[in-house]
Amino acid sequence: MGTLLIRNAQCVATFDDQRSELRDASILIRGHVIEAIGPAANLPQDADEVIDAGGHLVVPGLVNTHHHMYQSLTRAIPGVQDAELFSWLRGLYPIWAGLTPEMVQVSTQLAMAELLLSGCTTSSDHLYIYPNGVRLDDSIEAAQAIGMRFVASRGSMSVGASQGGLPPDRVVEREDAILKDTQRLIETWHDASHGAMVNVAVAPCSPFSVSRDLMRESALLARSFGVRLHTHLAENDHDIAYSREKFNCTPAEYAQDLGWLGHDVWHAHCVKLDEAGIGLFAKTRTGVAHCPCSNMRLASGIAPIRRMLDAGVPVGLGVDGSASNDGAHMVNEARQALLLARVGRALEPFGCDHGPAEMTARNALEIATRGGAQVLGRSDIGHLAPGMCADIALFDLRTLNFAGGAVHDPVASLLLCASPNAAYTVVNGRVVVREGRLATLELGPLVERHNRLALQLAQAAR
Ligand SMILES: [Zn+2]
Repeated sequence: MGTLLIRNAQCVATFDDQRSELRDASILIRGHVIEAIGPAANLPQDADEVIDAGGHLVVPGLVNTHHHMYQSLTRAIPGVQDAELFSWLRGLYPIWAGLTPEMVQVSTQLAMAELLLSGCTTSSDHLYIYPNGVRLDDSIEAAQAIGMRFVASRGSMSVGASQGGLPPDRVVEREDAILKDTQRLIETWHDASHGAMVNVAVAPCSPFSVSRDLMRESALLARSFGVRLHTHLAENDHDIAYSREKFNCTPAEYAQDLGWLGHDVWHAHCVKLDEAGIGLFAKTRTGVAHCPCSNMRLASGIAPIRRMLDAGVPVGLGVDGSASNDGAHMVNEARQALLLARVGRALEPFGCDHGPAEMTARNALEIATRGGAQVLGRSDIGHLAPGMCADIALFDLRTLNFAGGAVHDPVASLLLCASPNAAYTVVNGRVVVREGRLATLELGPLVERHNRLALQLAQAAR
């Protein structure tokens, strides 16, 4: 097995159990695993491949727990730029109805390129619309080609507008077909081993687009295969009102009733999770994908992340789909999580007990790394230590963004200064971003092809 040496980094923030931060340290990687990490003087000086990390900050690869990558085709699209969740969705469903397998493959690679260049090494994607022969396999094959660790979530919608759901009837699927395809995907692609590059999760889209039955059947299916469950929950006030009206309970109570709480479940958003809901999530170790930029873009609100963390709820970070967060940059997402948490606390009636310390730079970076790994049920990624997968991001501290900051505190500077792109991104021991450029595919032609398809998709809906 080949070796890769990340040599003599200025600073390594490991986010290991001791939260060690090392100076002048090296990391030796053998195959896909970290073999040793420590003072540069104590490690080998050479390997099959060497990255000279002098002047760099090294952190665990960031983990994105929620995305809809196909939405990269509908960024900044006129008509829904200023809409809230439900009208935003109603405006976009007819456009997304034109998606093709090629569009899913190309937009997934584009979204992954953007994430990898921001230091993200693992991403979940929640694909919940399957028109025109689209299959989740299209996304998985895209991830394999670009070299990103991937949690492919088989989304679904089954309750169309004629049945009281939000999506138009022509984009929903039959429930038996959804379950059958989900099982096929698990059997074809899911890998439960250490270092797995593909996991499959079962992910009906939301309480307002699938039936109670499908939620229950999905939970049974997932648990019979030992895979994870994912959906959207408690995203904004309309979402809460829908739950009250249709199910006569809060979203957290609905999740409990359906068997959708547990260490093997993670819910996106949870902006409106109440105290009782936070208690339920904490007790059952149910995870939350926090999506600060999307929550701001759609004016959904401010998720009570500090209260969740204090209660013991596992929290990861998600950029969410590119149509509600048009910039999928994981370091920036962590930065926004930090800033939004501080605003949230300031807006509470009597609340400034933490003040700006509501969320520190290190808290935000921990959510974006360790937190995300926990939410995705991965014990082999999210921090840097011997035996862990070699998922690593390097940032060049000698650049403009860090000037005057990194000399004092390189780790905090990553979050407090303007968000930089990664100089190197290593996924599973493979250098996927090298000297700031994607090493696994040509970005220029990909962007061109993606733009052509984005126009084609919008035109088809006119
Ligand atoms: Zn979402």
